[in-house]
Amino acid sequence: MPYRHLKNVATLEYDPAKCTGCRLCVEVCPHAVFVMDGKKARLVDKDLCMECGACLRNCPFGAIAVEPGVGCAYAILMSRLKGRKITCGD
Ligand code: SF4
Ligand code: SF4
Repeated sequence: MPYRHLKNVATLEYDPAKCTGCRLCVEVCPHAVFVMDGKKARLVDKDLCMECGACLRNCPFGAIAVEPGVGCAYAILMSRLKGRKITCGD
């Protein structure tokens, strides 16, 4: 069971209308907040979000908004383990 942050405080917002289904958010998110649902990402549980900002910074289409906290280094580490390069905007 992933660690859960306090309920309803995550700043994560997702706009499916902008999503092209590139899968990047699914691959970079360390807490499996997004899954693929057909040709679009689906936000599974906002309360799982640690506000690392990885999805925001890697979504090429601006479908995701979040106020990033301190967790992005962890997200980068996880993505490297999976063989992908992501950025945290710095
Ligand atoms: S901010 Fe981080 S934890 Fe939250 S959905 Fe995006 S990648 Fe996942
Ligand atoms: S990274 Fe953006 S465009 Fe790609 S699947 Fe996720 S929300 Fe959709």
